Amino acid sequence: MLKGKSALITGSTSGIGLGIARSLAGQGCDIMLNGLGDPEKIEATRTALAAEFGICARFHGADMTCPDQISALVEAAAAEFGAIDILVNCAGIQHTAPVEEFPPDRWAAIIAINLSSSFYTIHHAVPHMRRRGWGRIINIASVHGLVASANKAAYVAAKHGLVGLTKVTALETAGSGITSNAICPGWTRTELIEPQIIARAEALGVDVEEGGRNMLAEKQPSQQFVSIEQLGQLALFLCSPGADQITGTALPIDGGWTAQ
Ligand code: NAD
Repeated sequence: MLKGKSALITGSTSGIGLGIARSLAGQGCDIMLNGLGDPEKIEATRTALAAEFGICARFHGADMTCPDQISALVEAAAAEFGAIDILVNCAGIQHTAPVEEFPPDRWAAIIAINLSSSFYTIHHAVPHMRRRGWGRIINIASVHGLVASANKAAYVAAKHGLVGLTKVTALETAGSGITSNAICPGWTRTELIEPQIIARAEALGVDVEEGGRNMLAEKQPSQQFVSIEQLGQLALFLCSPGADQITGTALPIDGGWTAQ
């Protein structure tokens, strides 16, 4: 389905971003990976992706807090593949603390990585998409782009902002062949939420698995984690012709979290 197309996926060295990279690669899409991590592990991930799916996979280590590096990332992807057809904004971090104790440097980092980086990638990628008359912008927001939870001031603010950016981009690109949508996952078991599961388990004096079940019971009515594969499937659908008229949406995939 995606042979001849290319995708730039920020924050794709682990978790949801890597899962989406695998789903797109499985349909023949060339991939530009991005993210932090051990260089040897990233290189192993890149070569395995290329070998498993017979696609071209590249890596660029741009730090999402640095606008100059983000610009270089987008231009590197465009130079490598001749286009940027699909942009997935997935880089993200978390920090939890009450608002009056929230460290200003964590606020600044979360706003930079979880929100501003998507402005910069979109800003630089849209002209490439307009040239081809086709594009898919998929912003990995969160249920926290739609509703709030305590102790997540920066994360909730950034994800609500990302949903807003998604809508504005959709209006400005409507009818051009480009769509812009946000995916809003509920709890998905990745490195990002592991510290929260461990903290919950410690607070309750239970093991980590029971800590995870307790977090699900509080927020996610299905009582099941969203899987990385399910998020990959939703991203794939947004890249399909069936989704040509889906733009400006924020799609929950959350086991019922935001239905409450
Ligand atoms: P993760 O920690 O596995 O992935 C985060 C990715 O972002 C990694 O590749 C990491 O290297 C990258 N990253 C972090 N800081 C960066 C920086 N400065 N520059 C470049 N890359 C950077 O966690 P994940 O759960 O897969 O998170 C991916 C996205 O999904 C995030 O935006 C997160 O907010 C969102 N999300 C996650 C959940 C969940 O329950 N896991 C739920 C909703 C939304």
